[in-house]
Amino acid sequence: DNVAWSELPVERVYDYFAQATSLESVLRAFGELKAKLGVEELRGLELFGALREKLCTQKTWKARDALQLLEKRANQQEYMGQKAAEGVKVLIVGGGPVGLRLAIDCLLLGCDVRVIEKRPSFSRNNVLHLWPFTIEDLRQLGAKKFCGKFCAGAIDHICIRSLQCILLKISLLLGLSFHAGVEFLQVLEPNADTGWRAKLNPSDHFLNQFEFDVLVGADGRRSTVPGFDRKELRGKLALAITANFVNYFTREEVAVDEISGVAFIFNQKFFKELKADTGIDLENIVYYKDDTHYFVMTAKKYSLLKKGVLVADLPDTRDLLHPSNINKEELYEYAVDAAGWSTELPQLDFALNHYDEPDVALFDFTSIFQAEYAARALKRRGRDLILCVVGDALLEPFWPTGTGLGRGFLSAQDTAWMIRGLGQGRNMSELLCEREVISQQLPQTTPEKLQNNIKTYTINPFTRYCNLQLRKLPVQSVKHLYDTDTIGTSPALQRGSFKMKSSAGSSSSNKENRAPTPSSLSSPSIPVPSLSPSRRPLAEGSVNLAYYSEPANKMSLPNPSVLLQWANTHIHGYGIRVNDLTTSWSDGLALCALIHGFHPELFPNSPSSHRLIQSSTTDEHSPLPRRVSEYLRSSGRRRWKLLIK
Ligand code: FAD
Repeated sequence: DNVAWSELPVERVYDYFAQATSLESVLRAFGELKAKLGVEELRGLELFGALREKLCTQKTWKARDALQLLEKRANQQEYMGQKAAEGVKVLIVGGGPVGLRLAIDCLLLGCDVRVIEKRPSFSRNNVLHLWPFTIEDLRQLGAKKFCGKFCAGAIDHICIRSLQCILLKISLLLGLSFHAGVEFLQVLEPNADTGWRAKLNPSDHFLNQFEFDVLVGADGRRSTVPGFDRKELRGKLALAITANFVNYFTREEVAVDEISGVAFIFNQKFFKELKADTGIDLENIVYYKDDTHYFVMTAKKYSLLKKGVLVADLPDTRDLLHPSNINKEELYEYAVDAAGWSTELPQLDFALNHYDEPDVALFDFTSIFQAEYAARALKRRGRDLILCVVGDALLEPFWPTGTGLGRGFLSAQDTAWMIRGLGQGRNMSELLCEREVISQQLPQTTPEKLQNNIKTYTINPFTRYCNLQLRKLPVQSVKHLYDTDTIGTSPALQRGSFKMKSSAGSSSSNKENRAPTPSSLSSPSIPVPSLSPSRRPLAEGSVNLAYYSEPANKMSLPNPSVLLQWANTHIHGYGIRVNDLTTSWSDGLALCALIHGFHPELFPNSPSSHRLIQSSTTDEHSPLPRRVSEYLRSSGRRRWKLLIK
């Protein structure tokens, strides 16, 4: 606030920007820089272009160096000169490291990107271990230009706040619109006048009107982007403590060695002595030196109870770790004792968190969550929306393995690849299939399992993963991920299966592959009786979130007798009758007859390849439907049952 911005030459303003270490100061200095250059109104590629033009001078050599690195990255062929996904509008929820990393690729693809972050500041001191490829990736993007000590020497970690600042600076130079203090609440379906939008807090924020094609949940482990079922991976009870202490950067502190991951099984003597001396019983401990002295350790429950950190031994972990069951003073002492004994740091003063309290936390990581799929798509009123999750929202890491950021960056690049495919007009089911194949690699991926040449990684997954299989996927496996209000199956989903493309350009420029719009669908749509309210396109307002996860049998159905009558009319002639809404469907024949009536092409080798049922002309004794029902019966009930499942 005390800087006299108007008096500073542009190179000094840029210095402030490059050296800023908080969200507020980065945004402030960048605003001043744009004002100084007269480019306040520009964003996206226009801004990037203007900055390159105005900042690539002798005087502003620091800016020039950073921008030249970005230009080099922008020239990667995958981005197709920023035309690869030109015009695709992307809303990224979450300005954590992974959301920001994805924003960078989206900008380079030519997308119109907005990032919203609910927190007003970057406040996390915790230090993350980085995989070699993430270090290389960040170096290539110019991380060192914004943080001189970035991974200097053998250092392979960085605190989250610094990483967010670096990524934010890079993305701002590329033209990102970043909005702090804005929270995603809900996705809103299109209506007659607008496309897909989001309901945000604050409700009067102008981004409430932003229409987008892709919504990305980069909002961490408690993702709020709807429609992603999550599976829980439960291990044995694991309670972790993180603690940050002020780093005064004294000679004594510099001399203290880091502990880059000691687990009980590898160094039993260390932990036994710690226990004997202090009564603290740990399973593992990590100590990194960064802006703070950062410790993370897994403590045994009995030792937390014995030390009075936990007041009572409660069976439910939520109760166990409820603030009312934690004695904060004892927790601080536990952290200080463990840190002091392990490192002999001369002075341990707590760094403060964003509540201005000692930055110490006790949390449970017994369960980690994984989204069931990485992407899905919705079509309403002819408008497609891709929803994706990345980073912790997709796959929460088990912290001691230090996999969060490595896999998070991979998921961001994989998602960028999918968005590129969308920009290239690739078929939606093909994109969803490909995304699933790639995301299935993620939980097993370690640095050793990636391609060796980390310098040549791009958003093309084949440059990064070693064993990406060009295998065929049954279309059924993604059918449930493309939810359309166009009743009937799109031809794209009927084709059976597809083969993934291996090279960056092979499928890319095929605009004919564009997913069909409802009007271009050649299949007839099934006229059904009135739909339940939850399935009707909403004229205005929010998506019915229950719709995503509610099992079909919970959805309200039309009057049963109307449905029975409708079904019997349409299977008239097949020699099959529907008497009720339960047992009549159990062998699958009635449903198959119904489907066959509208989509005979779904039944290979069935007696008819054209539409059979014209209820006005079909009579009970018509031989063709009879032959079809014989065919259905002879094909085996088990098969139809499976098909229906
Ligand atoms: P986050 O960093 O969680 O960011 C999500 C962002 O979304 C947040 O800024 C949040 O405010 C915002 N947000 C949430 N909801 C909304 C909303 N509705 N609207 C708008 N914004 C929203 N990983 C490693 O790689 N190495 C390590 O050594 C390591 N150690 C760890 C130690 C501990 C103790 C813990 C807990 C984690 C550790 N991790 C580690 C994991 C690492 O922190 C995460 O993997 C990484 O931060 C994930 O980044 P992200 O961007 O996906 O999510």
